[in-house]
Amino acid sequence: TEAVAPAVTETIERTLILVKPDGVRRGLSGEILRRVEAKGYTLTAVNLLDASPELLAAHYAEHEGKPFYQPLVDFMLSGPILAVVAEGQGVIPGFRSLAGATDPTAAAPGTIRGDLGRDWGLKVQQNLVHGSDSAESAAREIALWFPGL
Ligand code: UDP
Repeated sequence: TEAVAPAVTETIERTLILVKPDGVRRGLSGEILRRVEAKGYTLTAVNLLDASPELLAAHYAEHEGKPFYQPLVDFMLSGPILAVVAEGQGVIPGFRSLAGATDPTAAAPGTIRGDLGRDWGLKVQQNLVHGSDSAESAAREIALWFPGL
């Protein structure tokens, strides 16, 4: 009997990373991307931009109506954002693991938010980075931030 080659159908996973305005302002873009690359992920697109209110409304649609929504959008409008597409096996949960818990005060040492985040008194808003939380979110968010990809 002939050996059947195992189907290698590993699809390359992509995620959307945002270095939020606090990260860009504090000069941490390089340090954050260094960690992403050091982990072995590949950067496939980068864009430094001032996000529009429309883009942010679409990006954060799931949070509309929550008390932190408008302050969050205002914060995201406060300066340039570095949008990045990174790819690699398991990059979606992998980057969220690199990022750490949403609240920088609670985020573990060794994570981006745990090592570098300073959100004391700022309602968990200025936590340096965003990372897509599922394959569906990643596809939706990459289409929003990189319409050409
Ligand atoms: N956020 C906030 N207050 C909250 C919860 C969230 O300002 O009580 C902000 C924070 O910047 C967070 C973003 O809203 O990164 C999106 O929230 P989510 O729960 O999706 O957290 P994440 O996936 O970024 O860890």
